[in-house]
Amino acid sequence: MNAEILCVGTELLHGDIVNTNAQYISKKLAEIAIDVHYQSVVGDNPDRIRKAFETGFSRADLVISTGGLGPTQDDITKDALAEYFNAEMTYNESSYQHVKEMYSRFRKDLPNNNKRQAYFPKGSIILNNPNGTANACIYRGEDSQGNIKTGILLPGPPKEMEPLIDNEVIPYLKQFSNQVVYGEKLVVVNIGESAAEEMILDMIENQTNPTIAPYASAGKVIFRITAKAETKEKCIELIEPVKAELINRFGKENAYVTESGKVEDKTAELLLENNLTIATAESCTGGMVASRLISYPGISKVFMEGFITYSNDAKMNTLNVKRETLEKYGAVSEETAKEMAYGAARAAGTDIGVSTTGVAGPDGGTEEKPVGLVYICVYYNGKFNAQKIMATGSREIIRDRASTSALDLVRSAIQTN
Ligand code: ATP
Ligand code: MG
Repeated sequence: MNAEILCVGTELLHGDIVNTNAQYISKKLAEIAIDVHYQSVVGDNPDRIRKAFETGFSRADLVISTGGLGPTQDDITKDALAEYFNAEMTYNESSYQHVKEMYSRFRKDLPNNNKRQAYFPKGSIILNNPNGTANACIYRGEDSQGNIKTGILLPGPPKEMEPLIDNEVIPYLKQFSNQVVYGEKLVVVNIGESAAEEMILDMIENQTNPTIAPYASAGKVIFRITAKAETKEKCIELIEPVKAELINRFGKENAYVTESGKVEDKTAELLLENNLTIATAESCTGGMVASRLISYPGISKVFMEGFITYSNDAKMNTLNVKRETLEKYGAVSEETAKEMAYGAARAAGTDIGVSTTGVAGPDGGTEEKPVGLVYICVYYNGKFNAQKIMATGSREIIRDRASTSALDLVRSAIQTN
């Protein structure tokens, strides 16, 4: 079975809201191995909605729409679907009771046109929407050429649509798919995207199941390894040898697996596993390193304190960075990064101190210290591990890249200790 996702709403076309529904549904369908070949968006215009359904069904077995189940005259997705299948619209009493009950809950008077929300194409399976007035529906029938097609109509608001997908639609669609898709993310650091790809080109070219797909993000490359099989366990069996070979090629120090693909998750795991406490001293990243670590649940056992020392005075007063160091080497230097990392660990009494100091731009760069130059350092076990980064891109990209590298440097300091 393959699918098209059709999102209805003029506000989507205008760019007023982001189409998160399409993303959510695509992800959930991928997990049960239903291929999404198209996503489309159409405004609240009857003719174009009808055409969109026709186009959708001409190239997909299943069309899932969101939006346009409301009570107003421009909410017509149900009518458009009924027309496509040549089905009548019929009244459903329990859906009307549902609308009434929802209105009484909000102590609002029920407008007459809400009755529209109780009409569905005849033969639909009606899905109860516990979070809104509009019930959803599934219609499975023959098109004019006798092909079996399925239309699923869902409400627009994500907080209504998402539970319906999870609790009703996916369980229903599982009967059409006897496979699951499961993936893991391999994070590769210290190697650029094209170099990394080259190192495993033969594997990418010969991939079938699992597939290997790279995508670059600031400071790292992620390879998503995805398998399709009858069960998740079978998928893991398929993934294991490929994962091992990838790690072997990139080297253990450069590659590791996390479920989320986030560097901070691996670093946090290692800190907790080894019961190592940490403090951060940040200049150009302004708290990003601390914030990313703190996003990991349970980190309070090991994360002690974060210092944002932006000015030279703050670096001296809070972290005990020496005036001579700042004068001789400058704030953006390996020496300052080292003293910051050490100062953080000392001030907070932690096992590890990690620091960032750099030129995030767009202004402030010099020939000697250009925009994008960042020094990071980890102090751990009496040893300093400093790194110079030359990042390119906007201020945000440079800061993101620097915080990713700092988090990864903590990981490698722990792993190679
Ligand atoms: P309602 O009864 O609220 O009118 P509806 O099913 O008619 O529901 P729409 O009117 O199309 O849905 O959308 C209602 C709201 O839901 C939109 O204003 C928007 O905030 C949100 N929404 C709609 N479609 C999407 C989408 N594709 N992605 C994210 N949010 C959406
Ligand atoms: Mg509406």
